[in-house]
Amino acid sequence: MEFNGLSVIVVEDHDFQRRVALRLLKQVGVADLLEACNGREALNVLMARGEAVDVLVCDLDMPEMDGVEFISHVAVNKLARALVVVSGVEVSILHTVETMARAYGIQVLETIPKPLSLQQLSESLEGFQASEPVAAPVAAPDQATREELLRGIGKREFLTFFQPKIAMATGELTGVETLVRWYRPGLGVLTPKDFIHRLEEEGLMDELTELLMRQTCIYLRAWDDRGVSVNASVNISMSSLGDIQFADKLHAVAREEDCDPSRITLELTESDVMTKIANVLNVLARFRLKGFRLSIDDFGTGYSTLKQLNNMPFTELKIDQTFVQNAPGDPRSRAIVETSLQLARKLGLKSVAEGVETRAQWDLMRSLGSDEAQGYFISRPMPGHQLPDWKELWLAPEVPELQVLAGAGAGPRSSTLIALPECLTHR
Ligand code: C2E
Ligand code: CA
Ligand code: CA
Repeated sequence: MEFNGLSVIVVEDHDFQRRVALRLLKQVGVADLLEACNGREALNVLMARGEAVDVLVCDLDMPEMDGVEFISHVAVNKLARALVVVSGVEVSILHTVETMARAYGIQVLETIPKPLSLQQLSESLEGFQASEPVAAPVAAPDQATREELLRGIGKREFLTFFQPKIAMATGELTGVETLVRWYRPGLGVLTPKDFIHRLEEEGLMDELTELLMRQTCIYLRAWDDRGVSVNASVNISMSSLGDIQFADKLHAVAREEDCDPSRITLELTESDVMTKIANVLNVLARFRLKGFRLSIDDFGTGYSTLKQLNNMPFTELKIDQTFVQNAPGDPRSRAIVETSLQLARKLGLKSVAEGVETRAQWDLMRSLGSDEAQGYFISRPMPGHQLPDWKELWLAPEVPELQVLAGAGAGPRSSTLIALPECLTHR
């Protein structure tokens, strides 16, 4: 049985055990996969996601926040629909957790001992019956005050999450897109839809963008030190393009953080750029002169012509996720993707298919010749410190110890390693 429609988070403090669990889940087809190494991190990741995951696979014996406290937060905030406990703790503790989870409407699937096996994991997931959709976690008061926003910027409550971009021909990690999250003490982690409009209204997008640019440069260096050399994309709001000095400001930040601007791509949405084409051309040109690259985001929604695009200094074209997601079943979306890719080739722009969620979408985008892909099929946005481990897992062709586990006789299903998706093995 394939589980490619399920979303699963693995919370496990032991690195090796976590990797094993992730790899097994990938093998049974789970594509929407999250991880955390303790309860606190898991709560942040789950709150940032904005909707409940289907299954939480969790060890109860964890440092920092123990499993019981963690699961009580998950239950109260409805962050997961079902629970698989992987643990060796006492039965009485297990009962407490099960009772608590059930009381809050979380389906308790199974308690499985370590080490995890493919067969047990598959059986647990088979037991999952999608319950009624659970409401999204408490979100924002969508009207943060100016003072709260300023304090958030001053105290660096705005955090960078990063989503990998992958070269479709080789499977290599080429870059990340920086996506902002607001960690509001007492309220959890908010996604951009809950606060960007307020920053725009208060004229604070420049401050936010400079902060995110700085954090992105700091991460690029930290990843370099861990042997992970990638480029990064930062989103630019239309409101920042009114300021002719903005390119200088971003350039100063990059220089202060010792980051070569050619490693940074600035993303601007097509509809924004095309409605103000005359006003923004000089600002765009200045970004390029300072060495930044420029991407035209959500392409396909803004009706640009070849002629207009030919005059713009873009280096990348990002196809809007709606077209990418509909393309396998909808000829019109597919035609838009094909035309966009042809346009990118003609103009010498790198193309990126955004929002790739399924194998079918990946295969189609690859066959149509998109240079890069980004989306949940590859990874959800993650906190920066997770990127090196994520990359290692992404690149590992096989984990030898899993073959040992799989061959250890846990049943016929676990004795065969299920082929990894081609995007994982094709390098
Ligand atoms: P965007 O620039 O088009 O970013 C992509 C959005 O799609 C992100 O949502 C990302 O998490 C989501 N996404 C990525 N892959 C998939 C997928 O496979 N399926 C689906 N359904 N969604 C996917 P997020 O982080 O909530 O950001 C939403 C929008 O908020 C962004 O759209 C961007 O317009 C804006 N935003 C995010 N961060 C920043 C920022 O730092 N500055 C500015 N100015 N805008 C930002
Ligand atoms: Ca973007
Ligand atoms: Ca986009």
